[in-house]
Amino acid sequence: METAEKLIKDRIKAQGPIDIGIFMELALGDPKAGYYMTRDPLGARGDFITSPEISQLFGEMIAVSMAEAWIRGGSLDAHLVELGPGRGTLTRDIWRATKNAPLFHQRIDIHLVETSPVLRDAQKKTLEGLVKPIWHDHIDALPKDAPLLIVANEFFDALPIRQAVATERGWHERVILLDGDNLMLGTKPGVFPMPLKAPGTVIEYSPVRDDIMQKIAVRLQNQGGLMIAIDYGHNIPGAAGDTFQAVHRHGYCSPLDHIGNADLTSHVDFARLAQIAKDQGCNIYGPVTQKAFLETMGIHRRLEALIKQAPALASGVERITADPGMGGLFRVLGVSGNVKSSPFQPAGF
Ligand code: SAH
Repeated sequence: METAEKLIKDRIKAQGPIDIGIFMELALGDPKAGYYMTRDPLGARGDFITSPEISQLFGEMIAVSMAEAWIRGGSLDAHLVELGPGRGTLTRDIWRATKNAPLFHQRIDIHLVETSPVLRDAQKKTLEGLVKPIWHDHIDALPKDAPLLIVANEFFDALPIRQAVATERGWHERVILLDGDNLMLGTKPGVFPMPLKAPGTVIEYSPVRDDIMQKIAVRLQNQGGLMIAIDYGHNIPGAAGDTFQAVHRHGYCSPLDHIGNADLTSHVDFARLAQIAKDQGCNIYGPVTQKAFLETMGIHRRLEALIKQAPALASGVERITADPGMGGLFRVLGVSGNVKSSPFQPAGF
């Protein structure tokens, strides 16, 4: 069987050292051997757990934020879009929570951007009997005829990044290379248009992430709508630091261990995403911490209303709002098209 490790070794043998972006693309996204393409990575028996899998109230709060914005924007025909929907749990919770929002279910259809066939199957099962989504491989294929209500939880952190490493001899690019038959991290000279920093300093950048943010911003400007993106990340422009990490069976490991069987992510540079969207003329909200967003949206009031029938909900809410913990580490960024006729301003910021 072709493993991701073998594919990567073959690529390096043929072409020489590869940057982290190519490494991530192969290890996560290779159609035959990539991590996301071959399994459902979520939950106790998988490798990691996400907020929508921990608590239904996460999706409910996003639903209220979006539905309010949509109603204020004129209750137009629109498309609800989830990027990287995992098991489809967040879309399910948003759809259930908007059942009573007037006209929401009549005027809105669902589009899922997902590359993994295994996860598409999981999404289909989760949404069976509730709503029929339309799947796309890439945001480019999303319809252009109506405003987009986009949600993305732990999507941007899974997109390939690259690293610039400051050395005595200038900026280098972090690469993966072969030493005999062993994969190793190394560097090779690169061209980076920024002042050199102290040797060892690492700056991460992500052409793929930038491109997706740029395209979404253009869409929101042209079509109207909004995006709510939630991820592990920071809001310091150009922050230095190596945040490239691998997670296997709920624990950290080296990105070179368990290749194709571990999740690879990095922290999202929210300042950069916000700047890209702003440069297109979009309105920006936040980023605020996940705790702040959920509390502003009234998660504790909602919990109080449900706790008698469902006491088990309390521990999930505690976990996704904890600071220190997920509530403080995750950030929520809102972006809306600056469209005068239908401003979709999301609540919670
Ligand atoms: N949002 C879900 C899952 C997060 S895991 C949750 O919160 O539970 C990351 C998701 O992004 C997976 O569904 C994965 O298959 C998808 N994904 C990763 N790279 C992608 C890409 N380039 N295009 C579309 N989906 C992608």
